[in-house]
Amino acid sequence: MLEQEPGSEPEPHIIPVTDHHLSRGQFSDASRFVVDRLADQGYPAYIVGGGVRDLLIGIPPKDFDVATCARPEQVRRLFRRSRIIGRRFRLVHIYFGSEIVEVATFRSGTPTAGHAHANLELSAAGRLLRDNVYGTEQQDAVRRDFTINALYFDPQSETIRDWVGGYADIRGRVIRLIGVPENRYREDPVRMLRAVRFEAKTGFCIDSETSEPMRHLAPLLATVPPARLFDEITKIFLLGQAQNSFQGLLEHRLLKPLFPWTQEMLVSEKAETVRALIAHALAEADTHIRMGRAPSLVTLVTAFLWAATRQYVEWHEKEGMETLAAMHRALATLMREQQKHVAIPRRILEQVESLIVNQVRLERGVSVPSAARLLTHPDFKASLDFLRLRVESGEAPHTLWTDWQVFSESSPTVEAGDGDPQPSRRPRRPRRRPPRAS
Ligand code: ATP
Ligand code: MG
Repeated sequence: MLEQEPGSEPEPHIIPVTDHHLSRGQFSDASRFVVDRLADQGYPAYIVGGGVRDLLIGIPPKDFDVATCARPEQVRRLFRRSRIIGRRFRLVHIYFGSEIVEVATFRSGTPTAGHAHANLELSAAGRLLRDNVYGTEQQDAVRRDFTINALYFDPQSETIRDWVGGYADIRGRVIRLIGVPENRYREDPVRMLRAVRFEAKTGFCIDSETSEPMRHLAPLLATVPPARLFDEITKIFLLGQAQNSFQGLLEHRLLKPLFPWTQEMLVSEKAETVRALIAHALAEADTHIRMGRAPSLVTLVTAFLWAATRQYVEWHEKEGMETLAAMHRALATLMREQQKHVAIPRRILEQVESLIVNQVRLERGVSVPSAARLLTHPDFKASLDFLRLRVESGEAPHTLWTDWQVFSESSPTVEAGDGDPQPSRRPRRPRRRPPRAS
């Protein structure tokens, strides 16, 4: 953090274009238009966050966010095609065709010790529930998560304004939390997942003081609303760095609070095949992104829950239950419990269930009378793809997959498809209870 002379205004470190070599032309026309318009109206505004970070690293940015001292209503009035969004914190979305520029008013995030603030609310565990307080540019910088995410690019002067040493960390390839790591994780445990995601995305190292508290604070993820964890999970696994991120989750003990049964099976006697199956599923998700296709979250979640489902099925079968009934019972239990950790939408879980149940049907082989009917199942293709992952991980015989492949290719009824099974192909069905064991 910058030293400040008593009585003087704090100033950021200014990095000139001759050092950082980013030019305004590298930022989207829309983000520059927004900043210019705000600045012309007397509101200092900068491009900040992931867009600046990624351009400095040489990664194509996902989007460009703007931070300004103007209040949401003031921003809204300057741009016709804009809308105020957000309840916890109000932001303005400005629409330019398919691009949305998100404009946030500078805000202050961390309550100073002993000074409660009506608009800053912490839970008993120190989690930030509300941080709806406007602040200065410096306060806006220090309430951000990592130093590399807190660089402000001024397109007018083409300088970078750095309040937290983020530019040196970009140079040093370090991911470092701003402030005291333990407090910052307590305020928002999702920052642990973000650290892992940015590590996977940038190839940077997480600074030891930033990584060290994660192991013992990982259980705090249980205090985060499961819906928010689902959002984070999609970013972790569907943006092309699934394999590296999964390694990071394991290394920092963050998998257990998200997918406890996956973690359990990874240390079971079946660990080797579990690991292989998940590794193949993750690799496939990353390959899809590289090839410009949509990766399948259904396949990934199926891979995560597959071994535990099998385990439960074995137990139920030992109690005398028939395989399919055991599988429905196992899935009902596992999914209900899994939802308490990560709120996976029902639509996805239904498809996961379908892929898993279809494995039992696929295992019956192609010579049973019901085989032809399975070919017309809306999730047949995805189920067969999952069987292939099982074969690749040594968990199912290769001939089983080739038999089905040949059988389906010789039949005209099967549609080929990639990615998640299409919900539109699935007739709506009433919620059903898993069959009870007789
Ligand atoms: P990307 O969009 O590539 O995933 P990003 O850094 O832009 O990365 P966003 O989630 O879009 O991430 O957030 C934009 C910025 O908001 C971040 O760069 C960071 O400065 C700040 N931010 C986001 N989430 C948090 C958080 N949980 N705590 C503190 N600051 C955050
Ligand atoms: Mg972003």
